[in-house]
Amino acid sequence: MLEIRSLSSGYGGPPVLDEVCLDLRPGEIVTVVGSNGAGKTTLLNTVAGLLRPVAGRILLDGRPIAGLAAEKIVRAGLSLVPEGRQVIAPLSVEENLLVGAYGRRDRRGAETLEAVYTRFPRLKERRRQAAGLMSGGEQQMLAIGRALMAGPRVLLLDEPSMGLAPLIVSEIFALLGDLNGQGIAVLLVEQNARKALALASRGYVLESGRIVLEGPAAALAASPAVLDAYLGAG
Ligand code: ATP
Repeated sequence: MLEIRSLSSGYGGPPVLDEVCLDLRPGEIVTVVGSNGAGKTTLLNTVAGLLRPVAGRILLDGRPIAGLAAEKIVRAGLSLVPEGRQVIAPLSVEENLLVGAYGRRDRRGAETLEAVYTRFPRLKERRRQAAGLMSGGEQQMLAIGRALMAGPRVLLLDEPSMGLAPLIVSEIFALLGDLNGQGIAVLLVEQNARKALALASRGYVLESGRIVLEGPAAALAASPAVLDAYLGAG
């Protein structure tokens, strides 16, 4: 579904990502774990079209998308839930959701909005409220709802657990499992490696811009290298 081949990307200096290869198959949840600065955000932003790759290929359902404008990639079926949520604070919850439907060419925006409200009743209750006044967890739900407004088949998430209480993180991870059950393939970048590997079927470990390890999530979670570097002693 999503094939990333020898992808190099960065910010004009030496590439941050160095020949990254990664696959996301239909129905999968795949996680990329790695420490601060490993290049996880750079990877997602490049796939989503916010950064232009220096080299390599990205295929979505066999179609090359590397270097396409971000809105074209959204239209092709891939949405990003960015790091830090990036809700537009002064706009209402509903306006933020509608931003996610911008550029949609079918007429299913209203229907999708209702579906998002059904999934997130809290967003419906607060639809007229400024997004900036919501709690961190609600803003994360809003960021996910906004991504869903485009009707994606592939969802990329950049550290959705960041700064949230454990209970809220569990809710968000349960939601990702749910969305996946409805046929959305999920590529999840996380520093919370333990939870991410518990949810995902496969994982990749990114270090200094390179994939250093990959495999079934359970095997990664049990591997000494991952245990030492990302899962602590517990
Ligand atoms: P984090 O968890 O801190 O977000 P990450 O794994 O997502 O880490 P990236 O944000 O992709 O890592 O950063 C990878 C490298 O790219 C870092 O060395 C960082 O300093 C550099 N970098 C990130 N953003 C920029 C930018 N806008 N301009 C220049 N360099 C950047």
